[in-house]
Formats: sequence, structure tokens, C-alpha cells
Amino acid sequence: MKELRNLFDIVIVGGGPAGLSAALVLGRSKRKVMLIDDNKPRHNVTYESHGYLTRDGITPHEFKNISRNELAKYKHVELMNEQVVHVEKKEKHFETITKNGVKLYSLKILFATGVTDHLPHIDGLKEIYGRSAFPCPYCDGWEFRDQPLAVIGNSDRIFEYTRSVQNWSSNLVLFTNGSANLNMEQKKNLVQHQITIIENKIKHLNSENGKLQSFQLENGKLILRTAAFIEGIKETQSCKIPEKLGCRIDENDAYITKQNGLTDVSGLYIIGDAKNLFSGLIKSASEGYCAGVSINSEIIEENW
Ligand SMILES: Cc1cc2nc3c(=O)[nH]c(=O)nc-3n(C[C@H](O)[C@H](O)[C@H](O)COP(=O)(O)OP(=O)(O)OC[C@H]3O[C@@H](n4cnc5c(N)ncnc54)[C@H](O)[C@@H]3O)c2cc1C
Repeated sequence: MKELRNLFDIVIVGGGPAGLSAALVLGRSKRKVMLIDDNKPRHNVTYESHGYLTRDGITPHEFKNISRNELAKYKHVELMNEQVVHVEKKEKHFETITKNGVKLYSLKILFATGVTDHLPHIDGLKEIYGRSAFPCPYCDGWEFRDQPLAVIGNSDRIFEYTRSVQNWSSNLVLFTNGSANLNMEQKKNLVQHQITIIENKIKHLNSENGKLQSFQLENGKLILRTAAFIEGIKETQSCKIPEKLGCRIDENDAYITKQNGLTDVSGLYIIGDAKNLFSGLIKSASEGYCAGVSINSEIIEENW
């Protein structure tokens, strides 16, 4: 192993909150770390992120900058702005190859590569996603509290989702964009809670500078709303390399892991949205810390 150039204790693929946090704890454990990130974090579409204690309202850009500055004092933690395209598991190490052909070797590998959102096909939705249309009311409900809100969605979870958004505003319209996937009792229940259900097809969402203004329906009606919460966004893995290496994936396209992100492939860990689909920043960072400790403990034990 000693003869390998570019040998790291650990390569971290993905530099969102999960990967950055793992890099910090591993750096502080004297590990030689390479973090490789192609800078497409999921919350890049937002103007600010909420709910991370001490960082409530931070921009995604600022979050990354502060984290990278903190890592800079650990000289044995290196960062590379690149895309990982291939990883192979050899007998005692992993071989990682980037898009530009850089080859690196590591004893362990951690994937914190997140997921990609696929929005429902509604004209005008993409323009407001992350500005006035969001997946999670806990992340962005407060900023739009008590305003005329919308829920867009029609999956099996639509009843529970709509009920939770109602916590932030009782002035709520549910747009199912077609025949509602609700039984009579659920419909009655929502109406009893002053929630209007609109099953007509949406023609277009009107907005200005990312701010939702109204729903234009195919029947010609215009419904004024200031923000929307979207249920049932399809998430897919941003990186399929762990699957190719033998990691299991569930029916919702989330990686299956054991404690602290360890997978069935020895030495390979997966954390953050890649395993939870929606973790939020603080849970992703927390998983980074736990996986970092676990990886370091594994190396200590192996070297003992
Ligand atoms: C609109 C919206 C608003 C949100 N608002 C909030 C909020 O207010 N508060 C909150 O707590 N959470 C919020 N979230 C959720 C939060 O963004 C995610 O849960 C969190 O970013 C997950 O962190 P992660 O580190 O797992 O993944 P990510 O942050 O997505 O980071 C993954 C990183 O891996 C990189 N990557 C992927 N594949 C490769 C590869 N092959 N090679 C190199 N790099 C790769 C990506 O470029 C990316 O930088 C929001 C999400 C969305 C969509």
C-alpha cells in the first residue's frame, strides 16, 4: 500500500453539509482526507436555508464558504472541485477516478452525494422552486406563515402533508391537478378545516422574480397565492457509483445502510440525503460527524 501515490485515509465524495462535516471530524482525527465535490448542492435553488442552529437564514453559498474556511486550517484535508466518475474496490483500498482523469487511492470511501429533485410538470413551477415553492414546510413555512398558501400534490401522502402545511397557514388551497387521490372522509375532513380542494388542471403558475402570484387554471379561473408547498417530488440519486459497487437501494431510490452509514460493502459509507432522501442540513451534518467518528474508530482498530 505504501507505494501508492495519492493514498488517502479517506476519500469523501460530495461536499454538502454531510460530506463537509465528515471532513471536519476526520481532519481533527489526523486523517489524510480528500473531499471531492462538483458543487451542485440540492439547496442551491434557494436564497436562504433555515433551521440550522447558529446559521438560521444562511445562503447555501455562505454555508459552503464558512465550512471550507474552517477546513482550511487542517492541512491534511484537501478539497478538489471535480466530479467523481468511477470508483473501484481493490483488495485493500478504493481507487477513485475523476472526470478530468485524476486517480486517487483510499482505505475508506464516503459518499455524501445527495439527490436530484424531479418536479411535477407544471408550467411556471421551475421558475419559483426554492423562492416561493418548497418541498418542506419546516424549512420554509415560517417565512410565509398566515399567508394565502397552496399545496400541490396528489400522492398517497397528500392528506397528511396538507394537514401539516395547515399548521403554518389556515388560508390554504390544495391543488391536486386532476381527480383527487382522497377518499370521501378525507375530503370532508379537509373541507371541515377550511381547506379548499381544487381538482381542475393547472394551466400555469404566474410569478414575478421568483415570487408566486397566482394559479391559472385550465377552466380560466385565477387563484391568488403567495407560496406553494409541493408534495411528492420524485428524488433520484445524484450518484449511482455506490450501486455499481454493490450497495443496495430501496424502492424509493434511497441507499440502504447500517449504523452510521456503513454499507454492505466493507469500508464504504453513505450518509445524508443519499440515504434519507430528505435529511435537512443539520441532520446531514450530524450524520457526517457520526460517520467520521465511526470511520476513524475502524481505522484505529485496524491499525492496533
Ligand atoms: C428547495 C429546497 C429548500 C431547502 N431548504 C432547506 C432548509 O431551509 N433547511 C434545511 O435544513 N434543509 C433544506 N433543504 C434540504 C437540504 O438542502 C438537504 O437535505 C441537504 O442539502 C442534504 O445534504 P447532503 O450533504 O446530503 O447533500 P447535498 O447538500 O445535496 O450535497 C451533495 C453534494 O455532492 C455533490 N456530488 C454529487 N455527486 C457527485 C460526484 N459524482 N462527484 C463529486 N461531487 C458529487 C453535489 O454536487 C453536492 O455538492 C432544502 C432542499 C430544497 C430542495
